[in-house]
Formats: sequence, structure tokens, C-alpha cells
Amino acid sequence: MNAPASFLQELVGSMSQGAAGNPTVAMIEAAFAHHALPWRYINMEVTPQDLGEAVRGARAMGFRGFNCSLPHKVTVIQHLDGLGESAAVMGAVNCVVRRGDQWIGENTDGKGFLRSLSTVTDPKGKSVVLFGAGGAARAIAVELALAGIRKLTLVNRSASRGQELYQLLRDKLNLDVELVVWEREFAVAAGTDIVVNATSIGLYDADARLNLDVSSLQPAMVVADVIGNPPRTRLIRDAQSRGCQALDGLGMLVNQGIVAVHYWTGIEPDAVVMRQALERALGL
Ligand code: NDP
Repeated sequence: MNAPASFLQELVGSMSQGAAGNPTVAMIEAAFAHHALPWRYINMEVTPQDLGEAVRGARAMGFRGFNCSLPHKVTVIQHLDGLGESAAVMGAVNCVVRRGDQWIGENTDGKGFLRSLSTVTDPKGKSVVLFGAGGAARAIAVELALAGIRKLTLVNRSASRGQELYQLLRDKLNLDVELVVWEREFAVAAGTDIVVNATSIGLYDADARLNLDVSSLQPAMVVADVIGNPPRTRLIRDAQSRGCQALDGLGMLVNQGIVAVHYWTGIEPDAVVMRQALERALGL
């Protein structure tokens, strides 16, 4: 007897709220098509009260995994069997992977950043300035610490959120970290290797600027922005005008997708195909 047609496809997806038209769908499905994988990536609107049922449903339907975004990144953990190393430190999951009969929570935010960064430099032993202390900053800081950076200067507007991340990095990862409460123009110290904007400054606003002394950026520094839309943020343009190597937020997003596809399928998908699909979906 032939298997039902639905068994011919492997399913992964995204559980989110209010993310209709998610460009990640186009990027991941482009990878499946390019590599001739009979897989589908399906965007599902899931409310917080339905999350447990949705995870059990995905398990029952044989999904190979799924991404999850706000507001599910922390609450999903109670429905899983285990966590990857960085997800456990962060206490947040954005990618669930079926391994055997276990559902394991991973966090690909920081891993995507690290992969994008590794195209231009190895963070091991480096000194880093990081703006922001929210979810993206937390993911990036934890992966940078696990990758063996020498020192992190954490610059955040609110002292309370800054303090929370500072303590996590110092106590759980033993990182040499300094917290600067961002109240005036920040000058990057000479000798800094990597500067990262992980705030939401610049999202949908190409002219929004960080309160940063641009003349303190030196050509030897790598400057990275998490903002993917628009990709050419004010920071990216300022960094390039100072002769720095600049990495946009699309690189991080594409690399997150690469990590997720690799977790689910075991293949290393084509980065160029995925970036092109993402740019098309964002209308760039
Ligand atoms: P959060 O809301 O968790 O954190 C936002 C951070 O930005 C906080 O540190 C906040 O400081 C800071 N911030 C916001 N506005 C200002 C301002 N005007 N001046 C100074 N600081 C400010 O957001 P996330 O961390 O989840 O996301 C941050 C950005 O990262 C988003 O724009 C998102 O699009 C992007 N992102 C990109 C990804 C990619 O793959 N490229 C992946 C994930 C996120 P405070 O604590 O003082 O409020």
C-alpha cells in the first residue's frame, strides 16, 4: 500500500504571533527547493495560551522541528525534552530540533551572528563593544563568550537590563565584562576589535543613529549591526566611511537560517540562494 502523500514531505515551521508574511519562510523554502528537498516550512500563528497544544500537535504530526519567535521563546522550554548549551545559558529558544524522539531547544540568534562574523574574523581572544542588552544582545554575548572573546564592554541605556546581562555573563560564563550605562556619546576605546549594535536603533529607519563618537571607530575594527531592514543602516555607512569592515544584519539572519536548516536536514544549504530569497522577500 502506498504511504499517504503527506508522508512524502518533511515538515518544519515557525510558531509566532503577528508575523504574517515572515520573510524567513521564503528564505528557508528557497533552500529546500535549491537542494531538491521535499520539505515544507510553514508559518503558524500560535497564541500564548495555545502554545502547549501546538507543540504537541507538531510532535504528533511528525514535524522535524520549528522556529519560534516572541512571545514564545521562553515559555516553549517547558514543552521540550532538553536544551542546547547556549539556549540553556540564555534561557531562550528560537529553534526546536527533533533528535531521535527528543525535542531539543536551540538558539540560533547568536550562532547566526557568529557565523556571519567568522567570515571576516575569529572572535577568540578579541575585545568587543556591544550596544544593547535585550534578546539579540543576550544571544550574541553568550555565543561570543562561548567562542572565547577576551573582554566585553556592554553598553546599554537602561541600567536594569544591562545589569541582568552583565551578571549572567560574569556568573554563568566567567567573562571579563564591563557595564557602561549609556547616558552620553560613547567613544570606542582604542584596541577594541569588534563593535556590535544589538539595539533596535535603525530598524525601519536608515538615518537613525547610535549615540556614538564615529571618529573613535578605527579601520582595524569590525563593525556589525543586527538590523536587517534596512541593511545599510547609518552605523554600517559610518563604519565604512571610517574604513572599517562592516557586517549587516541580513548576514546574521541568513546564517541563522543556515544553522536551522542544517539542524533539521543535516545538509549545509547554499548561503547565496538564501540571501537572494530573503532580499527578494524584503523587497530589497
Ligand atoms: P529588545 O526589545 O529585547 O531589546 C532592545 C534593545 O535596544 C535594548 O537593549 C534597548 O535598551 C535598546 N534600545 C532600543 N531603543 C533604544 C534607544 N533609542 N536608545 C538606546 N537603546 C535603545 O529587542 P531584541 O534584542 O529582541 O532585538 C533588537 C534588534 O535586533 C531588533 O531590531 C531586531 O530586529 C534585531 N534582530 C535581528 C536579528 C537578525 O538575525 N538580524 C535577530 C534578532 C533580532 P533598553 O534596555 O534601555 O530598553
